[in-house]
Amino acid sequence: MYKIETHCHTVYSSVCGHLHALQILDLYKKEGYDAICITDHYNMQTYEMNNAENVADKEKAMFKGYLEVKDLSQFYDIEVILGAEIRFNENRNDYLVYGITPGVLSNPKEILEMGIVQFSEYAKQNNLVIIQAHPFRHHKHCIPVSHEFINGYEGYNHHPRHNDFNEKAFALSSKYNLITISSSDLHRSTDEESMGGIKSAVLPRNSVDMAKILLSRDFTLYHKNAEN
Ligand SMILES: [Zn+2]
Ligand SMILES: [Zn+2]
Repeated sequence: MYKIETHCHTVYSSVCGHLHALQILDLYKKEGYDAICITDHYNMQTYEMNNAENVADKEKAMFKGYLEVKDLSQFYDIEVILGAEIRFNENRNDYLVYGITPGVLSNPKEILEMGIVQFSEYAKQNNLVIIQAHPFRHHKHCIPVSHEFINGYEGYNHHPRHNDFNEKAFALSSKYNLITISSSDLHRSTDEESMGGIKSAVLPRNSVDMAKILLSRDFTLYHKNAEN
C-alpha cells in the first residue's frame, strides 16, 4: 500500500506555513510516505503574499509551494501532487480541492468570489473533488457546509495545535455517506508527531489521479499514532 499525505502547507504559499521544500521532502521520506499533496492556502492572503495581482501567470504565484517541492522531488523517490485549500471570500471555511488541471484555478479573484455553492457547480464541470477541511474547528469560525455541495469531510485532521472535534466530523461524513479522509495539515517540523493521510493500492502521479483515488473510496485512513 502507498502512503499518501492529503493536506500539507509550505512556507512559499501559506502565510502560516514554515517549511521549505527540502524540509518537507526529508520529513515525508523519513516517515515513509510515497506521495504528498501540497495543499497551500488558496485565499486572498496568499494572493497578496505572492503579489498575484501583478503577475501574469497567477497559477505560478498561487502554487509556488507546490512548484518548489515538485521541482526538488526529482532527487527523492516521492510523488508531489497539486492540491489547494480554498477559502472563499464569503466566510472562514476551508475546502481541500483535488483533480486540478492547468487553467482551472488560474483566476483566483473570480474563484474566491464564487463561494461554495457556485464553486460546487464549477467543480462538477471540471471534475474537481471537494473535501471540507476541519469542519468543526469552531475557534477558527468553521461551519460544516451542507453535504450537497461537497464530496466529503476531513474526518481526521491531525493538526496538533487546534481542536478539530474529529469524531463529529467523522460522524457527519458517515451520516451522509460522503468521502472521509485523514490528514496531517502539516505546517511545521514539530507536526511530525501527529501525522495522517490515506493508504491506497494505487500510487497517484498527479492531481487527477488523486481525485480518482478519493472518488473510488478504495483507500484506508492512516494515523501515525494509532493502530488502524
Ligand atoms: Zn494554515
Ligand atoms: Zn490546512
